[in-house]
Amino acid sequence: MAESNISELETTTNPQVLYRCKKCRRIVASKENIVTHERGEGESSFKWKKRSSQAWEMEKQTIDCTSIFVEPMKWMQAVQEGHVEEKLLCMGCNARLGYFNWAGMQCSCGAWVNPAFQLQKSKLDECYM
Ligand SMILES: [Zn+2]
Ligand SMILES: [Zn+2]
Repeated sequence: MAESNISELETTTNPQVLYRCKKCRRIVASKENIVTHERGEGESSFKWKKRSSQAWEMEKQTIDCTSIFVEPMKWMQAVQEGHVEEKLLCMGCNARLGYFNWAGMQCSCGAWVNPAFQLQKSKLDECYM
């Protein structure tokens, strides 16, 4: 009765993903560069909300990660220069794409990534090859 084949889809089709600067279309990362992290748990992703005098309601915040985390890459000039934390600027157009910190940063989902090379999804175009 149970359908157990659904998860196979994920492993068989694995499209290449590229991230480009939205402004100048320069490729800044690909799927291989992405450092995945566990979604944040606990206090930071749950919010207790007092609705009325009696009822406490747990509001589950389904916050998506608003950024991706990648490994340090050549185009990250500030990284090459030896900074500990600095803005990440696009090599092509100097647009601010994100921020990095060797000591770690917190994702919008609540998870800590350490070290963190964070690129804002809103500044990137996600392309599937
Ligand atoms: Zn996250
Ligand atoms: Zn750019």
